[in-house]
Amino acid sequence: MKIIMLGAPGAGKGTQAKMIAEKYGIPHISTGDIFRYNIKNGTELGKEAKKYMDQGLLVPDELTVKILLDRVAQDDCKNGYVLDGFPRTIPQAEVLEEALTKLGDRIDYAINVEVPDENIVKRMGGRRACVNCGATYHIEHVPPKKEGICDNCGSELILRDDDKPETVKNRLSVYHKQTQPLIDFYNGKGVLRTVDGTVDMKDVFNAIVAILG
Ligand SMILES: [Zn+2]
Repeated sequence: MKIIMLGAPGAGKGTQAKMIAEKYGIPHISTGDIFRYNIKNGTELGKEAKKYMDQGLLVPDELTVKILLDRVAQDDCKNGYVLDGFPRTIPQAEVLEEALTKLGDRIDYAINVEVPDENIVKRMGGRRACVNCGATYHIEHVPPKKEGICDNCGSELILRDDDKPETVKNRLSVYHKQTQPLIDFYNGKGVLRTVDGTVDMKDVFNAIVAILG
């Protein structure tokens, strides 16, 4: 079973990807992880990617797909995998499609975890982080014992710049511009499945399991 996860930053798709990987015994592949792995181990592909990154350039789609295909060619992927964070754009999806087709292979499902922007802005806006030890809280879901104070170390809790409504809204607008075409792309291939990401994480997962079987 080969699965792609789609969903806005903050929609919880990474969590769902991990749960899918665990239940179905297939690897959870995040592009961030495989980049780090290749660079750390000094592989040829890692060296090539590093050349771009050292210059502050984006790694070209062809190279990203090469690194990805190298990963999915490994033994633990023979029953499938969950891709998290790739593809992000239509050119990436096309390069991936082409490469998989050459191998006589295809993506079985693109799972779209759908959460309205206003929910994501609210979720992120409730996060708090300790300035000292990095512990994280949520004013509604994981509140500290004393408001604004870290349970672990007693330091101040802050709303990180990354979680501020304006930052989150900007990130979401970039996401929608890039991802709506991807949603259409996978819908056109008949593999798109959308689940409601606003409910409890366990219920989101149950909806996904109902799709995957
Ligand atoms: Zn702390």
